[in-house]
Amino acid sequence: MSATLGALLRLMEPDWSITLVERLDGAAAESSDPWNNAGTGHSALCELNYTPQQSDGSVDITKAVGVNEQWQVSRQFWAYAVENGVLGDPRSFINPIPHVSFVHGRDNVDYLKRRHEALAGNPLFRSSEFIDDEAEFARRLPLMAEKRDFSEPVAINWTDEGTDVDFGSLSRQLLGYGAQRGMTTLFGHEVRDLRQQSDGSWTVKITNRRTGQNRKLDAKFVFVGAGGGALNLLQKAGMKEAKGFGGFPVSGKFLRSDKPHLTAQHQAKVYGLPPVGAPPMSVPHLDTRMINGKPWLLFGPFAGWSPKFLKQGDILDLPESITLTNFASIVNVGLTQWSLLQYLVGQLMLSDAERIGALREFAPSAIDPDWELNVAGQRVQVICGSKGKGVLNFGTTVLASADGRIAGLLGASPGASIAVPAMLDVMERCFAEHFSSWLPRLKEMVPSLGTELAKEPELFDEVWAWGSKALKLDKSADLTPAG
Ligand SMILES: Cc1cc2nc3c(=O)[nH]c(=O)nc-3n(C[C@H](O)[C@H](O)[C@H](O)COP(=O)(O)OP(=O)(O)OC[C@H]3O[C@@H](n4cnc5c(N)ncnc54)[C@H](O)[C@@H]3O)c2cc1C
Repeated sequence: MSATLGALLRLMEPDWSITLVERLDGAAAESSDPWNNAGTGHSALCELNYTPQQSDGSVDITKAVGVNEQWQVSRQFWAYAVENGVLGDPRSFINPIPHVSFVHGRDNVDYLKRRHEALAGNPLFRSSEFIDDEAEFARRLPLMAEKRDFSEPVAINWTDEGTDVDFGSLSRQLLGYGAQRGMTTLFGHEVRDLRQQSDGSWTVKITNRRTGQNRKLDAKFVFVGAGGGALNLLQKAGMKEAKGFGGFPVSGKFLRSDKPHLTAQHQAKVYGLPPVGAPPMSVPHLDTRMINGKPWLLFGPFAGWSPKFLKQGDILDLPESITLTNFASIVNVGLTQWSLLQYLVGQLMLSDAERIGALREFAPSAIDPDWELNVAGQRVQVICGSKGKGVLNFGTTVLASADGRIAGLLGASPGASIAVPAMLDVMERCFAEHFSSWLPRLKEMVPSLGTELAKEPELFDEVWAWGSKALKLDKSADLTPAG
């Protein structure tokens, strides 16, 4: 998020002084590292939790269309960035990979068909195919068909227009662009406190984690893009808009395999339905993942638990985030979210054999020696408070102060895929006096800015074709991975 904002601001204002402060010794080593997330370029093509079934049997596609619109903004900016030397070879961070929804059982097949019909008229979802034929299923997903009992009906929704994204590589390249153009980068430095001065500017207290040396930085504007660390920093800053917000950390674990006989048989990101009562981040998926030019398979996520808000955080993160203003909301969530607690306890008790058992729902022939468990990143689910009634929010929330001098991002999903619209939102809210003068340049980068592509099919065709070519995602593209 910070890398995206830094690059966008550098493109708009080449002379502004920008400093990045990162507590770790390298860039993007927390949630954005490719092993810490699933790398799904979330465009709502396959995630069934974005298309819930209503009590009257209809399928609500509002969320899916909204997420896809946000994805289109990121996709356009990355295309511009590649064409203009901000980013390097697209193969180093984005790869085309079909996105697939998968269900089994008669009722679920019926739901998937109705979902397909509900999305069919929308240009953003035009490439989606509904498939319930066993032979075609086996042709497209050989690993998932092997040893499958087809006496139970199965169906998939398939689109060729999905992607796998290495958000770590993307972030490093964006930071590199800023650093080459005068952005100061302070790695191994942690922000410990923020104080607003009478003129509205901020004094940021930072500590060199290796030497213990303290320093102060002055800034007219601060963006707290600290991932799981953002809530505590916004609280320390005394940000009014962050009052009442709390966080609840859930870590992710994935089974992974690089066995060539498996990666060759499965080239898709296949998302299923979450178990009944489980939260959206528990949607099981079997993914092709491209990391450093090498294909992997990933299955999960399985939930883990730790009070840390960052993978490399501190066990006091959760207790330290509890304040007088969010205590009631957190307790309220604790008392009302029984299904989440039950789900977490169930996940923590899983044995290796049970995890392979869950994988077999997708790949019935899976055997234990082919797979290893990898601990992914921490997701801090946002608890939004209002009069003591806490609500657990699984989405992403941008907070900006009324004076526009500080902003921060909480939450995790859809996540890195929507970094560009989220940061454009920060720019609009915090740099209102500059935004209109930036608009013409921003529209060169994101031609659809300010419009809904679902309502502008011609513009959609145009930006889609441009993005596919620039990002080497069109079908004629050379699919050789970057080394
Ligand atoms: C299991 C899992 C699966 C996911 N799958 C997907 C997916 O498929 N697609 C998708 O789009 N998103 C996914 N996400 C979400 C996505 O990873 C995050 O939304 C995104 O990476 C967040 O980026 P960020 O810049 O906000 O945070 P981060 O990448 O975590 O960066 C925050 C940085 O701030 C630093 N920091 C923290 N505190 C301080 C401090 N006090 N001082 C200095 N530096 C500090 C951290 O060290 C870190 O480097 C997933 C997340 C998880 C955990």
